[in-house]
Amino acid sequence: MVPWKSTVRCGVAAAALVLTAGAAVPAAADSGGPHRDPVAVGSGGAVSTVDPDATRAGMEVLRSGGNAVDAAVAAAAALGVTEPYSSGFGGGGYFVYYDAESGRVRTLDGRETAPAAMGEDAFLEDGEPIPFDEAVTSGLSVGAPGTPATWETAVRTWGTTPLSEVMRPAARLADRGFRVDRTFREQTAANADRFADFPATAELYLPGGAPPEVGSRLRNPDLAATYRAFGKRGTRVLDGAIGGDIARTAAEPPVAPGSERTVRPGLLTPDDVAGYTAVEREPAKVGYRGVDVYGMAPSSSGGSTVGEALNIMEEAAPGTDGGLRGAELRHTALEAGKLAFADRNAYVGDPAFSDVPLDTLLSPAFAAQRACEFAADSVLPAPVGPGDLDAGGECAEPGAAAAPAREGLSTTHLVAADRWGNVVSYTLSIEQTGGSGSTVPGRGFLLNNELTDFDFQVSDTGAGAANLPASGKRPRSSMAPTIVLRDGEPWLAVGSPGGATIITTVLQVLTERVDAGASLPDAVASPRTSQRNTEATEAEPDYLGGSEEKELTALGHSFTEVQSGEIGAVTALELLGRSRIQAVAEPERRGGGHAAVLRR
Ligand code: GLU
Repeated sequence: MVPWKSTVRCGVAAAALVLTAGAAVPAAADSGGPHRDPVAVGSGGAVSTVDPDATRAGMEVLRSGGNAVDAAVAAAAALGVTEPYSSGFGGGGYFVYYDAESGRVRTLDGRETAPAAMGEDAFLEDGEPIPFDEAVTSGLSVGAPGTPATWETAVRTWGTTPLSEVMRPAARLADRGFRVDRTFREQTAANADRFADFPATAELYLPGGAPPEVGSRLRNPDLAATYRAFGKRGTRVLDGAIGGDIARTAAEPPVAPGSERTVRPGLLTPDDVAGYTAVEREPAKVGYRGVDVYGMAPSSSGGSTVGEALNIMEEAAPGTDGGLRGAELRHTALEAGKLAFADRNAYVGDPAFSDVPLDTLLSPAFAAQRACEFAADSVLPAPVGPGDLDAGGECAEPGAAAAPAREGLSTTHLVAADRWGNVVSYTLSIEQTGGSGSTVPGRGFLLNNELTDFDFQVSDTGAGAANLPASGKRPRSSMAPTIVLRDGEPWLAVGSPGGATIITTVLQVLTERVDAGASLPDAVASPRTSQRNTEATEAEPDYLGGSEEKELTALGHSFTEVQSGEIGAVTALELLGRSRIQAVAEPERRGGGHAAVLRR
């Protein structure tokens, strides 16, 4: 274990170290791929993504005069080449943008939609939910992709560069190929069985029938052609052959002859694909210890749940920094997250289909009610029930608790800033690593399986109704791209993949930065825990066994090692003042990310 890890593993003992600026952050891990910088400080613009090629694509667009929106879309398109199992043209996501000219935060909901033919019982058979694994690798779970409309809308509304130029670096990268790194090979190997069942996927990602070697070059000329067509014609390509191919692949996923896998057909039609629109929404906003936190409103539960948890923390420990550090900070955040998750599971879904009480969930009065449950010296037995929407700030008996949701652990997050002061925080996904497993033949991208984020049925306690499938509906997400303003100016941008752990990761990075005063690189690198209204709190191995864990266990918390070994993969940035930007990526998780600035 590197010395840095042992110093940060226990928050209380390590608090002093965590507070010292970035110095404790190690060099990037050896990924087997191109060079990576977890931190870059400079001016003129910045991009941070999980991947060096994608960061470079964004930087190229900034360098040729594009703004942060153009750079974010260019980087996202490049991720479709180099991180195709986490996001891409066949998926969806949420785009949060600070527009310097108007001083406003704008958001785009580019979440996939259910086919028009999808009903409430789509994932039931004889009244019982179908096996989750069968939903994961199916046509049934494929929603109409929202990413093409997100890219087009963002670039044409807020960007300054023609879409064709924004798509150019990614198209070139797809043509020339990228060097396979260890993370890519591992993700391919973990999916090799199901990829082998889809000839178009196997042809692309299992060259010669096996995962590509680390260091080999992987090309995707079909995707290059898709990107060039999209660059020229925008989402009009979805009205034509590409849209038709998406619908056909989802409706009848082309399976290898002799495959024994049950691959359920989907319901997507060319009209569903061509008719998709990205929705501009008012951001979910809360004030927290003197700063303003802007996140994604429903259909994502990201902004409402991070915001509610922050409000509860401020109720539990008022003041401009709350005085929270180490074990006390973690205890407060875990308990606030637990309470906020109960409300998320009970009340949040697509607002076009049910009345989502966003204003109540984000109100200080509701936080005061929820904080009645909180105690500084004991732990709430989970699962806790949701709050009473009508009780205002009065203490109220919680309702019946909902079952925890299942969600994938894939997805990707990126941030960008430019010299004009615009900032982007963008999370995008195809849901599970490798999405539905099915590649659109001849088009070079995987289809999402985002509709597995619906609740398949209402639970015994009555929860889940807000998130049942329906015609044209968006499944509830946890994606939480976030921008923080201080004194009305952008200060931080942060986000992460990780399914429902996205929310707790964003909460942890924000509170370590804002409450404990950790540097942003330290807040990103520090060991993560995730409490989502279950009895045990998931923790990364580096957290377990430290003195903070012991202190919290004595209080009544119980921790379990997270199965995948790590939680999330953050990218973030901080505006340091005097036009200086600090761009931050993971030093180690998922093989490390890459942060860059225009001028060092
Ligand atoms: N589908 C998940 C969501 O929208 C994200 C999946 C992930 O992060 O892996 O919340």
